[in-house]
Amino acid sequence: MQNDNTLTSQELTDINGAEFNQAYQQFLNTGDFISLTRQFEQGFTQTGQSNQLSFSVNKAKVSLLDTGILLVEPESSVKPSKSIVISSAIHGNETAPIEIVQQLISDIVAQKIQVKHRTLFIMGNPVAMNIAKRFQTENLNRLFCGKHQTIAPCYEKYRAKKLETYVSDFFNTARDENISDSEVTNYHYDLHTAIRDSKHEKFAIYPYQGDKPWDKEQLSFMASCGVNTILFGHGPTGTFSYYSSANFSAHSFTVELGKVRPFGENNMANFSAMTEQLTALICNEDLLQKDFDNKNFNLYTALGDITKVSERFKLFIGDDVSNFTDYPVGTLLSTDTDQEYRTTLPGESIVFPNAKVGNGQRAVLMVVPTTLT
Ligand SMILES: [Zn+2]
Repeated sequence: MQNDNTLTSQELTDINGAEFNQAYQQFLNTGDFISLTRQFEQGFTQTGQSNQLSFSVNKAKVSLLDTGILLVEPESSVKPSKSIVISSAIHGNETAPIEIVQQLISDIVAQKIQVKHRTLFIMGNPVAMNIAKRFQTENLNRLFCGKHQTIAPCYEKYRAKKLETYVSDFFNTARDENISDSEVTNYHYDLHTAIRDSKHEKFAIYPYQGDKPWDKEQLSFMASCGVNTILFGHGPTGTFSYYSSANFSAHSFTVELGKVRPFGENNMANFSAMTEQLTALICNEDLLQKDFDNKNFNLYTALGDITKVSERFKLFIGDDVSNFTDYPVGTLLSTDTDQEYRTTLPGESIVFPNAKVGNGQRAVLMVVPTTLT
């Protein structure tokens, strides 16, 4: 592989230590971003673009900003019109998304593909990756939009703040370098896998858009990635995708790609459409997608949450029940102090049931089928 790393080995050693130097060189040689990220879960001595961990590959500048954070900027005379964030490992045990990001990065480092749009790759929670858990202390995907400020110190609190800063710098840089915002379109695909089975294996959560219409072209893009079940968000949240959508008008989705499996046990062929379409997007190639048609989708709108109020909360949904399972009208789904939840609408379905949440938190999201006009 040919890339002109601008620092000598000695300079690198001075910045981050000999162990880092060796690991970084290994990354340059192999493109193995997972290993580098896992080896330095807490980060490096020097972070941000000033750390000078940049190299050129196939007419793009690649900068390692921090552990799990890799920026790729095309060295083009034409201004790129898209800024794209592709994130994984916001939940550390969700390995398929990590392997998708790994695939894209190794293809870039090996010069198999040429990136034409600014792209920020993220492996969100290296500490949780190393312990093969969803998170160490707090669910990182509830901590964005400043919600990290409200919790006690822990790794996820620190990491949420960092991720917000990197994403914000990334989108703002494109804005600063162009005359008006409208010249650059922002994108953020936050890739996950789900804890339980799903009636629809792959699905995406489209963050709440306020008064803005749902973007049918984006829905078609999701379908072309193999994701034709879409759940429309019903209000502001602390998720990573909502953060980019609300603050930077990014086309943004939380994408659930199937069930959680350990490293090495994912059938990557199952994710080839996603990997290929993301590659086409960052390389400015034709996106093979059809015009939007309701009949090609399972669309759901959120009705609201079943919230656990007290320790007396009981949920009548088994651990083996799939996401998007629907119940007949009048079915009792939960009881709590002085209250119960019964379904009231045809097709009413459950998503993300979890009785083990804390008091005041969502135990189930209730959804119902919908179509777009
Ligand atoms: Zn997840």
